[in-house]
This record gives sequence, structure tokens and C-alpha cells, in this order.
Amino acid sequence: MLSVQNLSFSYGAIQALDDITMVAPASRITCILGRNGVGKTTLLMNIMGLLRPTIGAVFMEDRDVTDLPADKHAAAGFGLVPQGRRIFARLTVEENLRVGLASAGRKAKIPDEVYELFPILKTMSRRMGGDLSGGQQQQLAIARALVAEPRILLLDEPTEGIQPNVIQQIGEVLKRLVVERGLTIVMVEQYLDFVKEIGDRFYLMDRRRVVAEGITSDLSAHLVHRHLSV
Ligand code: ATP
Repeated sequence: MLSVQNLSFSYGAIQALDDITMVAPASRITCILGRNGVGKTTLLMNIMGLLRPTIGAVFMEDRDVTDLPADKHAAAGFGLVPQGRRIFARLTVEENLRVGLASAGRKAKIPDEVYELFPILKTMSRRMGGDLSGGQQQQLAIARALVAEPRILLLDEPTEGIQPNVIQQIGEVLKRLVVERGLTIVMVEQYLDFVKEIGDRFYLMDRRRVVAEGITSDLSAHLVHRHLSV
């Protein structure tokens, strides 16, 4: 379980998060929704230790990880699939995966399970990251986080710019990880159909704050219209 308690954050004089409290239950997919610029990525950065909350706390189970340095998060069980994928274009697929292993201080080989989840990465293991399609890069970004065997996986807009058939494959993998491995997933996502299909709970953000929460099947047209449509 991941929990965020009364967390606020400012970029200098600009407040980006205001008193955020949320719980992502173990072995569930919790979705963070909201229009562009409401603070979703900033929240993930605060959870991962890449930004420091002005006030408030982040807990993994009972452990307070608010002050844990960013480079200790992978070893503590956090994995991040960042917005825009951030694949190393001049490294091969396999080398990208090795970066994931190194981030958690592991020297062991890449687990076979990762190639089983994403067979395309096995086929393309010697290709340069920059030569992959957007969908293949997204699969590589998820695999790179998974090689470190996280207990909590955070994803920032995994469907952005990806073709529908790959979105479906990614959704199936994420569901498998939750059911078979008990992974806890926190996903920032703007694609509502995807949220409703694979998500369990949602938190809806608007202008720095959480304005609604619940189970994804209860995401009403009223909420969508008021806080998500442009
Ligand atoms: P998007 O969907 O576009 O990624 P978001 O909901 O993830 O949006 P954030 O990227 O977290 O939103 O941005 C929240 C607010 O903080 C925005 O007003 C943004 O302009 C501001 N912001 C983000 N990064 C910085 C920064 N490095 N310095 C100053 N302000 C920033």
C-alpha cells in the first residue's frame, strides 16, 4: 500500500499541489486523473523523491519514505515509468533493461519473465532504443522498471501517443502483474476508457487539489464533464 498524507508542494512561488491525501491499496490499480497542468506529474515526482514536499508525507506500508533520497527508491521497491518514456535512444533494448537492473543495485541477469510479458523485446534485444516505435518504447519503459522487481509501480500517462492494439497489450500486462504478482499500481492517465477498463480506484485532481475519489466504475458523466473535458 502507498499513502500520501496532506502533501503540498510549490515550485518557488508557484503552488503546484495543495493538501493531497490519497491511498493506493495493495494489488490494485489506482488512477490519477485530471486535465493538463493540474499537478499529476508533480505528485508522482514527490512520491518518487525527485521533488521534496513542502509539507506532508509519503508512506510505503508503514514506512515513512518522504525523506528517502531519489536514488534509494528503486531498492526500496518503487518503479517509475516516466511521462514520454525516456528511453535511452543510443543504447540497445538489452542495455536499457540493464540500466533498470543497475538502478536497484542488482547485477543479476534480466529476468526471463520480462521477455515473457513483452516478447517483442526479446526479438529486438539488440536494436537501438531510438529505432523502436512509440508502442515498443513504452513496453521497454515498463520492462525497464519491472526488471528491478518493484512492489509499487508508478506510470505517467502510459497510453500517450500509443496505438490502440498496443494499449490493449499494455493493459493486459498491467492486469496480469496485479493478479499474478500482487503488484500495486499508481497510474496517471487521461484516457478514460483505459482507466475504466483496467483501473480499480480513481483520484480526480483539479487545480492542485483532489476533488473526487472512488471506484472507476462510478466515474460519472458529471465529474468527467466538470473536471476532465476541455
Ligand atoms: P500534464 O498532463 O500536462 O503533464 P500535470 O497534471 O502532470 O500536467 P504538472 O506537470 O505536475 O501537471 O504541472 C503542475 C503545475 O506546475 C503546472 O502549472 C506547471 O506549469 C507547473 N510546473 C511544472 N513543472 C514546473 C517547473 N519545473 N517549474 C515551475 N512550474 C512548474
